[in-house]
Amino acid sequence: PKDTVDVVVVGSGGAGFSASVSAHDHGAKVILIEKEPVIGGNAKLAAGGMNAAWTDQQKAKGIEDSLELMTKDTMKGGRNINDPALVDVLVSHSKGSVDWMTAMGADLSDVGRMGGASVNRTHRPTGGAGVGAHVVQVLYDNAVKRDIDMRMNTRGIEILKDDSGNVKGLLVKGMYKGYYWIKADAVILATGGFAKNNERVSKLDPKLKGFVSTNQPGATGDGIDVAGNAGAAMVDLQYIQAHPTLSVKGGVMVTEAVRGNGAILVNREGKRFVNEITTRDKAAAAILQQTGKSAYLIFDDSVRKSLKKIDKYIGLGVAPTADTLVKLGKLENIDGKALTETVARYNTFVTSGKDADFERPNLPRAINEGNYYAIEVTPGVHHTMGGVMIDSKAEVMNAKKQIIPGLYGAGEVTGGVHGANRLGGNAISDIITFGRLAGEQAAAYSKKK
Ligand code: ADP
Repeated sequence: PKDTVDVVVVGSGGAGFSASVSAHDHGAKVILIEKEPVIGGNAKLAAGGMNAAWTDQQKAKGIEDSLELMTKDTMKGGRNINDPALVDVLVSHSKGSVDWMTAMGADLSDVGRMGGASVNRTHRPTGGAGVGAHVVQVLYDNAVKRDIDMRMNTRGIEILKDDSGNVKGLLVKGMYKGYYWIKADAVILATGGFAKNNERVSKLDPKLKGFVSTNQPGATGDGIDVAGNAGAAMVDLQYIQAHPTLSVKGGVMVTEAVRGNGAILVNREGKRFVNEITTRDKAAAAILQQTGKSAYLIFDDSVRKSLKKIDKYIGLGVAPTADTLVKLGKLENIDGKALTETVARYNTFVTSGKDADFERPNLPRAINEGNYYAIEVTPGVHHTMGGVMIDSKAEVMNAKKQIIPGLYGAGEVTGGVHGANRLGGNAISDIITFGRLAGEQAAAYSKKK
């Protein structure tokens, strides 16, 4: 071997970084490898926030939440096929993970709403700026501070095992160094999902053939093959999520928080057609049934001011604006008269606190201030729920549910946490919590060896 460490982490998204920092802090010598030239994976693109229950940030805002409620929402969103033991880890560690990130310098003090949540529990930076870039930056800074050996342009190829089947290292391929192996007691797979690989996606779910994706280029799923070749079992691979709101004009993903903060969805006929903050699978399916397989997010300046991220969309030119809804309709070929009626009716629901048409559970503000905006949206492949089978210690298992000693998995590469459909805000929570856990477990395992 070229190098010898205690733990090798594969992938530099939120899960990989959390695992690296946590393994280091539990006494392990760590190498982190990333096949792409840049760090951050898809985690860096996450726009929504980090779900957590019973946090100080919620309490400061008078939000009443509980572990039971977050568990119920997560299971319901996942159509109850989530692995309950993994959901228990996700939920019970969520506050601890917010505190862990905060202690490392993150700002997660703003708390908003995402689809499928019964209360506000999506933690994000003040003013609602993008959570992913922030979280990855904080983790990266902490990895640098700890002098963790990070290698870009380095792909994990094969898990190496000794004669008794214990992990003994990882074969990698560096862009400049070529093939070499790293000797290690434990390998943590944090290689993310495969939403960018339409060939793999459409084989598992033919309905998604030809769909665009919100993901970064590295989200191809080769980590799934690396795990499979090492004997890992897979769960729920057929469950692939389309994010309902990808901007048609710019291909940029529009965060669910825009709806959470008060935007409505209308079709070209100017009518609402769904509870805007239902789960992603339902919202996406509803949009695909509308004329042209797209819909419009409609909001005003009060929604815009409540969420910093919206200024980015306006800056990208994907959110045309006008001072009346009729003019807005003209710009985008939406029935302006119907749109005006729809918004007026929706505003009466905001006043009465009850959505008589679609039972939307949160009605944060009326749409009647300043200028109006419309973002045309359509679904794009966003998250792959399935993946490597792990237990509640992030240990990877084979088809007989026996652990593969020394192999750990965390984040989107794993399956079971989100069941058939992931709730917005649960990915960041997943990658931080399971990354931390995998790092801790791998470090302890290495120490014992
Ligand atoms: P998560 O959200 O679970 O942390 P991300 O998608 O954010 O997942 O990050 C996964 C990272 O792993 C990406 O940056 C991706 O390029 C990287 N990656 C995927 N496969 C490999 C591999 N075989 N070797 C090294 N890095 C990989």
